[in-house]
Amino acid sequence: MSLWKFDHEILDIIEKGLEGNGLTFDETVKLYELDENAKESSLLRWAGQELSMRSADGLAEVHAQIGLNSTTCPRNCKFCSFAACNSARAQSFELSRQDVVDYAKEYEEQGANLILLLTTASYKFDKLIEMAQAVREVISPEMPLLVNTDDLTLERCHALKAAGVNGCYHAVRMGEGVDTEIPVEKRLETFKHIHEAGLSLQTCVEPIGPEHSAEEIAEAVFRCIENKPISAGAARRVPVPGTLLGERPAHTELANGNFVAAYRLATGLNPRLNCSSNSPLTASSGANLAWSEVGSNPRDAVEKTEIGGHGSSIARMQKWLRGGGWEILDGPSQGWML
Ligand code: SF4
Repeated sequence: MSLWKFDHEILDIIEKGLEGNGLTFDETVKLYELDENAKESSLLRWAGQELSMRSADGLAEVHAQIGLNSTTCPRNCKFCSFAACNSARAQSFELSRQDVVDYAKEYEEQGANLILLLTTASYKFDKLIEMAQAVREVISPEMPLLVNTDDLTLERCHALKAAGVNGCYHAVRMGEGVDTEIPVEKRLETFKHIHEAGLSLQTCVEPIGPEHSAEEIAEAVFRCIENKPISAGAARRVPVPGTLLGERPAHTELANGNFVAAYRLATGLNPRLNCSSNSPLTASSGANLAWSEVGSNPRDAVEKTEIGGHGSSIARMQKWLRGGGWEILDGPSQGWML
């Protein structure tokens, strides 16, 4: 095999993607079909980084997630350690209001660019409102505050906005309605409510497993693009022991690099934040948004993810991003206050 023999159809798609105007559905499928070990994949990951650097002017961000509880969740997403159908967790757990406030303050001091409160679907909505208000009081007014919680009515979106919340993380997950008990329509309704209430949207194509076809991934990519998020991207499934999908094969980090790079080329120059760079490899494949996590986490089964779990510190995430050639934004992330 000649070293210089490339699949020119793929090279043409990558070259078009580098123009920054996005790709067609079929072109995106071709990129998601690529084997991560193919020569063309190295070019794809380089191009993802190149376009993200241009899109974000070389700046990356670290967003901070505070997991408020690990109470058993009735939505039964088979990949999630909180799901009632799984036996990943020994007992449930909730952070006190004081803990949540302390985490938020510490996160801002440590250089987080955005703060997100994560709950299971079983967390009381009124309590989430109280927590959001308490956090809003101790962080600077410019610091974006987001939530990742149950599906939302329009009324609840308005209540979140009134409590000082600027946006929501929300996604139609891969295998939604099959590997979860949430109908896709319900997730789509929530997108609508988020927008109608004037909240900003953060989303992602996740959790991607080897059982998902390139077409399914591309459909999810275009669903994200259509919903005009402030940040988006793509991420592989993290298998959690004790969950129903814990034993299913998982993608490699190298494949994850392809996923974020292909998302960047498919979406073009916007949005500037491409998720997620929770590995040195994705931080050099077009991802300029990394997550630091504390409290409960659906991707592990420990009480506090920062102690022996999946969670990473702000400093560690910044280090990985710098390793990919990024500078780190100093201060609150922009564009979330709609
Ligand atoms: S992913 Fe969210 S909705 Fe699904 S089981 Fe976990 S906490 Fe509940």
